[in-house]
Formats: sequence, structure tokens, C-alpha cells
Amino acid sequence: MKALIIGAGCCGASAARRLAEYGWQVTVVERRSHVGGNAFDQRNENGILYHVYGPHVFFTDQERVWNFLSPFAQWVPFRCGLRVWIEGESHPMPFQPATLRGLLPNEADAALAAIKRRWGGRDRVTVLDLLSADDPLLRMAGQRLYDCDCAPYNQKQWGLRPEELLPEVIARAPLYLEDRLDFRPERFQFMPTEGFTALFRSMLDHPRIEIVTNADALELLGISDGKIVWKSGREWDAVLYTGPLDRLFSDRLGPLPYRTLRFDAREVRAQDGLPCLSMYYPEPEFPWTRQTDYRYLPGNSPEADRTLVIGELPGPLERPEDEPYYVVLTAHSKALYQSYREMLAAVPHLYAAGRLAEFRYYNMDEAVGRGLDAAEEIHRRERKSS
Ligand SMILES: Cc1cc2nc3c(=O)[nH]c(=O)nc-3n(C[C@H](O)[C@H](O)[C@H](O)COP(=O)(O)OP(=O)(O)OC[C@H]3O[C@@H](n4cnc5c(N)ncnc54)[C@H](O)[C@@H]3O)c2cc1C
Repeated sequence: MKALIIGAGCCGASAARRLAEYGWQVTVVERRSHVGGNAFDQRNENGILYHVYGPHVFFTDQERVWNFLSPFAQWVPFRCGLRVWIEGESHPMPFQPATLRGLLPNEADAALAAIKRRWGGRDRVTVLDLLSADDPLLRMAGQRLYDCDCAPYNQKQWGLRPEELLPEVIARAPLYLEDRLDFRPERFQFMPTEGFTALFRSMLDHPRIEIVTNADALELLGISDGKIVWKSGREWDAVLYTGPLDRLFSDRLGPLPYRTLRFDAREVRAQDGLPCLSMYYPEPEFPWTRQTDYRYLPGNSPEADRTLVIGELPGPLERPEDEPYYVVLTAHSKALYQSYREMLAAVPHLYAAGRLAEFRYYNMDEAVGRGLDAAEEIHRRERKSS
């Protein structure tokens, strides 16, 4: 059996490896010049390892994902705290008691006690929980976090007012009820010592996997009348697509909305870098949503004299070369996506998974998990139908 996997990111590469282990002959076609998708990293001309499409740290609670990934690299435990720059000072992220005390010095302790009374037993609440509470003190605390971070950050990130976005987008910012040094709560938090690209190369290094880079798979196939139409003379028994679903169907129902990123990179003296891996900037006077100082990542030296700081500037997709980084979740875009999904379901032997193809925010571990699920589904269903 032969599978075509479109996209060599977390989802496509994991599916390719799993299918090859099941005995399939797998062809991975990737539009970019490299594997790894958005987790791709490389060294710059001065040897600093950086993430070309924005900073990535790995974390998961999914044991099966960790067991799958861990043989492909050497790993080092990595946990980090991040910060947010508000009104001329930096505060810990994610929101936690120290953040609230910095932003509401007079009311924070009373608000934290009221939160614990109201939601005893929980380790976090969301800003939306606070905003919809009966107690005016809780609403005031929620409003402060919303006004100085959630609202301006989301406006900058998505180019939309918070009311135009789905609540699940804004609710991603929790307030933890205990101070914490780690940005993330997950059990497994490790980084590959040689970087993510080396991890992907090792994952795809299998005698039954062929990799073709710098190639747009939509030149190999198209969809017409609910069927796959082969364009190059080569055919496969099953296809897993991990790119944007609207493009697969030539935007037939209209384009889905995405945001792109531009990057502002500069090498600076170590003392001019950041106090932590990443600093968030919700306020409109700063052009970036976030800046990252790469000396803190494994593979670089925190003691080096110079470091690389890269800012992320979100914007609309305008030029053909703009990459879709983030799906924009609104009630309208979700409904449009659903219509594309129905078109997909009607095409035999065609599968779609991953962050772009499923039109949602996945972290790396979830995208790997979706790749493994897709491989299992393809193997189970296509073997039966052959
Ligand atoms: C700025 C940023 C920071 C992030 N930070 C983190 C983090 O710290 N931790 C974390 O867990 N997750 C993070 N993520 C999320 C992480 O990037 C994704 O979960 C993961 O990359 C998704 O993998 P994927 O395979 O679904 O998609 P992608 O990585 O987007 O891979 C899809 C691939 O398909 C290729 N492709 C598309 N169409 C075609 C075509 N027609 N022909 C050939 N190839 C095609 C694309 O070129 C791409 O390489 C971050 C994302 C961004 C944007």
C-alpha cells in the first residue's frame, strides 16, 4: 500500500513514520525547502540556533506522544517562565497571584481570597469566569486583566475586536491561583538538544519513506466531482493532507481567514537582551505581540556575549508568499470550515489532519497525536477496502 502525505510538519511527519512502521510505502511532499513545518529551526551565520517560524517549546501530558517522539532525539528537561510588559513594567506570565498584585496592588489579595472562596479546589480560573462573576471585586479583577492584556493583545494578534472572536480564543489566558515558575503545567517538558529539525530528520529516516521538498502537492492531485484526480502519472492508495483545507478545494466556497507573521530579528549584546525567553507586548505602541531571546533555548549558551532577539508582528495574509500561521476563529469562519469538511468527507481515500487542515489551534504534541490518529485510521480503513 502506498500513501501520499502532504506536509512534513508535526502531523504529516508523525503520520508518515507510523504508516512506514505499519509497512506502507510513504511519499512525503513538502512545499518548503525543509521538513519540520513551523517547528523548523536552524543556526544563523553566527551559530545561534533559532526557530525560523517563531519560538517553539515542547510540552505534553500525552504519554503516547512522548513515547512516540522520545526515541528520535536526545532531550533535555526544559521549563521556563515568561513575562508580559504592561505600563512600563514586566509581570509574570501566565497570570498568577504575583501578576495580579503587580497590576492591582491594593485589591489583589482580597480578590484572590474571593476567587478561592468562589472556586475552591480549582487551580486556575479564566478571565471570562471573573468577568461573569456576581461579586463586583471579581469582575473588577477580571476587567483589569482584560483591559490591560486580553483585549489589546487579541486586537493586535487577530486584527479583530475581542467581541468578534469566539470566547474560547480569549479564554486561553488563565489566572493560576498559586505562583509558578513554569509557563506550562504539562508533565513532560523537554527540548531536543540538537533542535527540532534534527528530530524531524531522524523521524523521517526510514527505508519506506521518500521525502520530496520544494514541491507543491497540489500539482500532483486535485479534487473534482468528489474524487481525487491524479495529475502527474503517479497515484497513491491514500492521501493525508495537512495544509489549509480551502486551498485543497481551490477556495471553492471562499477563503478561510488566517493571520500571518513577520519577524523582526536583531543580534544584540547580551545585556540588551530580555530577562527571560519571551516577553509579551499587548500594548499598541509596541509593534510585536512577543519578543524572544534565543540564548535561553537549549543549543545556545545563556553566557554568550551576544544573543538573537526576534519579535513577531502579526498581520493579514496579503502577498502570495505570506504563510498562514494562525487560523482566525469566528462563528462565520467555523461554519465555512465545516462546509469544507463536508466536501472532504465525500472524497474516498482522502484524509486531512493537523493545525491548518482542521482549522484550529493545536500545540505540537496535539498535532503529533493527530498524525498518529490519522495513520491508524488510514491503515485500518484502507487495508480493509483494498
Ligand atoms: C509562532 C508560533 C509559535 C508556536 N509555538 C509553539 C510552542 O511553543 N509549543 C507548541 O507545542 N506549539 C507551538 N506552536 C504550534 C505548532 O507550530 C503546531 O502545533 C505545529 O507546527 C502544527 O503541525 P502541523 O503539521 O499541523 O502543521 P505545520 O507545521 O503548519 O505543517 C504543515 C506543512 O504542510 C506544508 N504544506 C501545506 N500545503 C502544502 C502543499 N500544497 N504541498 C506541500 N506541502 C504543503 C507546509 O509547508 C507545512 O510545512 C506554535 C505555532 C506558531 C505559529
